[in-house]
Amino acid sequence: MSTATAVGLRCRECGTEYADNPINVCEMDFAPLEVVYDYDAVKKVLTREQITKRAFNMWRYRELLPEQEPVSGFNTGGTPLYHAKNLGKRLGFPNLYVKFDGVCVPTLSFKDRVVAVSIARARRFGFETVGCASTGNLANSVAAQAAQAGLKSVILIPKSLERAKVVNTQVYGATLIKIDGHYDDVNRLCAEIANDAKIGIVNVNLRAYYAEGSKSMGFEVAEQLGWRAPDNVVVCMAGGSLINKLNKAFNEFAKLGLLENEPKCKFWGAQATGCNPITAAIKAGTDLIKPVKEPNTIARSIAIGNPADGYFASRLCQDSGGGGDDVSDEEIIAGMRLLAETEGLFTETAGGVTVATFKKLAEAGKINKDETTVLCITGQGLKTMDALMEPGVLPDAPVIKPTLGAFKDLKIA
Ligand SMILES: *Cc1c(COP(=O)(O)O)cnc(C)c1O
Ligand SMILES: [Zn+2]
Repeated sequence: MSTATAVGLRCRECGTEYADNPINVCEMDFAPLEVVYDYDAVKKVLTREQITKRAFNMWRYRELLPEQEPVSGFNTGGTPLYHAKNLGKRLGFPNLYVKFDGVCVPTLSFKDRVVAVSIARARRFGFETVGCASTGNLANSVAAQAAQAGLKSVILIPKSLERAKVVNTQVYGATLIKIDGHYDDVNRLCAEIANDAKIGIVNVNLRAYYAEGSKSMGFEVAEQLGWRAPDNVVVCMAGGSLINKLNKAFNEFAKLGLLENEPKCKFWGAQATGCNPITAAIKAGTDLIKPVKEPNTIARSIAIGNPADGYFASRLCQDSGGGGDDVSDEEIIAGMRLLAETEGLFTETAGGVTVATFKKLAEAGKINKDETTVLCITGQGLKTMDALMEPGVLPDAPVIKPTLGAFKDLKIA
């Protein structure tokens, strides 16, 4: 099968080029590697006309992905972009949009995009087993898509994840291992496993390929806005990869002449205050990411204390004219409820972080109210119901006798 448009790997620091290989970092300086494309070859094929002829999922931009032939996640991506009129009215933003990856298939988070690419790549490299270090959503997606591709999967998570994330991993027949530690301990162990064993760890030795899948969210947003990059994007950050890839997506579309406007998007990063290594750096105006040793937040899916792409994410937010902020657990729950009550969309805790951070930035007057702003909502609320099931968060529903009198006694309407 041809991968004619993706032609190898290149170090993001020193530019050293590498042939396609399951390697994670540059041999010279240990900096991350990035997939290189032959943009002239891409430009010949990937016109607006060609894109719109294809099915509405992430593979319609396949020439800008490291793999063109999926072996799983055939319908991944193609999620809705809503004009969030109710939430926009509430906060005074008439041009507010919500990109909702809470309905991404197969496992209801944006991680399905990165996994679809990395599973295809794992198959090409001949791995029979794939794995990941995960905060939850990645575990679900690797388990599901490995099953679909006929690969075995071994998945490592911190022991304190939500029950739904555990069930949604094991049901696919994955081997799940809980680590007595935080995500950074899990990740360190996975790096050692990747050096030693014949396992394609999607976010370690396949990370360069994996990360490219995130671009599809940016391609879709630009296409759905009428081939325009938005003025502002608000996105929650874990390792800081997605936010960088959204920027790359807009720039690639511009380079290929697919956009109506010059992309001048301001990026706004969102984190939980209980694990805020990137937003702390942004707010302090520095590049220096100080790892958080003991993450403590209900937003477990983004609780990464030592983010792999934190430096690049913090630079992007500062250099693009955007910024960032972080929010408490109470604000996260309020953010989840605000999106549900205004737009009828139920997101997980990570999405609550995005909404609550946007509200905070909006109320502080940091984002221009008339510009186009897209909130990237990356996950599904049904997976983190634990946070809302704590006593006192949602009201107790009254139990009444099945009579009209009893209903009338409630004096509802
Ligand atoms: C993994 C994840 C993110 C962020 O991912 P990074 O690319 O590591 O910053 C955001 N939202 C959800 C729901 C996730 O699972
Ligand atoms: Zn290098």
